[in-house]
Amino acid sequence: MKEIEILDRIAITVKSHKLLRLLLKENPAFDEIMRNSRNETEALVGVQEWIEKEYAGHKEAFSFFRSTNTGREHFEKLDWQDYAIIRLLDYIAHAGKEYRDLNLRGEIAVSNPIQLIWLAVHRGTGGAKPDFYIDMIELFRQLRGEVQAYTPDREKVLEWMDRYPSGMDPRIIALREENRERILKILIRRIPEGGGKGQRFYFAKGMSEEQKLEKAREWWGDPRFHLRFAVRDPELLNEMLGYSLDPDTMKILKEAEEAGIPFFINPYYISLLHVRVPYFAVGADLAIRHYVVYSKQLVEEFGHIVAWEKEDLVKAGKPNAAGWILPDGHNIHRRYPEVAILIPDSMGRACGGLCSSCQRMYDFQSGRLNFNLDKLKPDETWSEKLKRLMDYFEQDNQLRDILITGGDAFMSSDRTLKELLDQLLEMIKRKRKKNQGLPEGEKKAEIQRVRFGSRLPAYLPQRVTDDLASVLADFKMKASKVGVCQFLVQTHFESSMEVTPEARKAVDRLIRAGWTVTNQLVFSAAASRRGHSAKLRMVLNDIGVLPYYTFTVKGYMENNFSFAPNARVVQEQLEEKVIGKISEEHYETIRKFPEEAEMMVENIDALRKYSGLPFLATDRNVLNLPGVGKSLTFRVIGITRYGRRILEFDHDETRRHSPIIRKMGKIIIIESKSIHEYLQQLSEIGEDPEDYAGLYGYSVGQTESRVPVYDYPEYAYSPTGEFSNLEI
Ligand code: SF4
Repeated sequence: MKEIEILDRIAITVKSHKLLRLLLKENPAFDEIMRNSRNETEALVGVQEWIEKEYAGHKEAFSFFRSTNTGREHFEKLDWQDYAIIRLLDYIAHAGKEYRDLNLRGEIAVSNPIQLIWLAVHRGTGGAKPDFYIDMIELFRQLRGEVQAYTPDREKVLEWMDRYPSGMDPRIIALREENRERILKILIRRIPEGGGKGQRFYFAKGMSEEQKLEKAREWWGDPRFHLRFAVRDPELLNEMLGYSLDPDTMKILKEAEEAGIPFFINPYYISLLHVRVPYFAVGADLAIRHYVVYSKQLVEEFGHIVAWEKEDLVKAGKPNAAGWILPDGHNIHRRYPEVAILIPDSMGRACGGLCSSCQRMYDFQSGRLNFNLDKLKPDETWSEKLKRLMDYFEQDNQLRDILITGGDAFMSSDRTLKELLDQLLEMIKRKRKKNQGLPEGEKKAEIQRVRFGSRLPAYLPQRVTDDLASVLADFKMKASKVGVCQFLVQTHFESSMEVTPEARKAVDRLIRAGWTVTNQLVFSAAASRRGHSAKLRMVLNDIGVLPYYTFTVKGYMENNFSFAPNARVVQEQLEEKVIGKISEEHYETIRKFPEEAEMMVENIDALRKYSGLPFLATDRNVLNLPGVGKSLTFRVIGITRYGRRILEFDHDETRRHSPIIRKMGKIIIIESKSIHEYLQQLSEIGEDPEDYAGLYGYSVGQTESRVPVYDYPEYAYSPTGEFSNLEI
């Protein structure tokens, strides 16, 4: 007997029975179809015919369901009931399809909700769990038009945002000073007296406790101090947190240590966590805390994590999943024609901490990214290798954008970064010069945009020193003369609580160096609370940062705890972020912002005031799909017995892709958490599930178009349309 047939024989629980009864009671026509069908095929046909007849007036829904072209315009014509019609039709159209569920280490998942209900009605089997039935009950309520989308007004969203203080709040600043003092008192007991060879941080012999503390306060401003004394085990973390971690959490952390998950939490970042929780900020630090405190699921899965980004799996001489041929050595990653990521062999292979839901956890698992800081210093062969990597950019027809990242790009020393930028500049000049000799239509894409990816402005803002800023400013000055016109630092703030005076200073230095700072937020469960991301956008705008992407948590069961379903990502976009939506009449204004990066705070402020927006919603909510890239164009086409939704994603039609996209087809994502589990998790962290009313209904998504501040400039010549380094 097939595995699936065995599952079909599993009796449903008492709770599932009760929910089934409710579903049938609320939907007499559906009940009748279920009871009168002699087998599941008849049930499927019966439901389909009933929907087609009963809801025949919903023409947009049927045409959206059938259409291969489901662009934004069409999407915006759909109403709340249409979503339910489309979902049910999709459930029927995909009934019985099998998918590999990488959340369950490759087990086969089958979606056949109508069959599961038929089995439950006739045999009391099918094994469907309560979360499945709850989702189905909500679906039918939406279909009947009983529940409507809940659209909070602007005042409500502002009220939600208000629940989250920022790290600039004087009361939060005072708490963090208290935290700093506690942490330093622990650290000074670990710092030796009398320095040995190569020791940077030590106390002179005979210093009093007060003198030591004073010295350590000075070191607090030095990023090397934080890297040197980053916490690498759970006991010390707990001690620094005033022994406030509960025994269950400590047990998980110790198991994490045994499983080999690296610990690396620098003292500054620890100081952002509450120990004494003030009444006005209960739960405000959760998005930070959950980045540091590993989940049970991560511990259980570590060692079995599979790569999400298929294009990151590179074999020498073979094209990656997007069809690109890349140089050996895992230094270049590429998905799109215009941009490639460069990961230097340097300290940039580490980060200022390990985010528990890191998209690169697979690489930390393999050790390619790690926290062995001494061993990560570039060796003498790096310069040679870098030349080879630069050749790749120089010879490519389409690359015009380089994203230097890691790990974390700013973990590299100033010297390493300067050398990299020097070589980059020479390459840009060479490419430009060679282009002059090529006829129109055959010229290669010249580099227009240079980006750094770094979370250090949030993790360890002390790293953004005047020296680093001057390396960046110097590069900008020189590169501007050879055609580069966009200079960006892509950072990653997760919470308004990370926006501290130190972070503001770091961002300010980057801005004064003429670089535009943008933010990529990971929409973790804690960050997905009502108003949380909207508040972050506002506070980032205050310090001159433009939101860039709001990412669904990637990965499989290892990230189950952090995961917020895509339905919530769409809800956030349409119900909260919408209060910062920039109207098209301001597009020309905002397009020019990067040209005056030094004026970013003033320009953002002026536009907010003029347009009456609390923040500028310049970010797009997306999921980074394996092989296909960023998109939020999806439909829920199935559901597992556990109530976990199965989504079919399409690529983002608004941007250029590798031509392989035409061969790729759609991408199936099985979510690791049901909507009900997610709501329960929110409830456990103090949220009122009622505030999320309508969440079940978001089963269709459409990628937003990009705000023009992120457009590439036009070339002054006609570049070739030919691809190079591509094999399909
Ligand atoms: S900073 Fe980025 S790469 Fe580093 S651990 Fe966090 S999410 Fe991962």
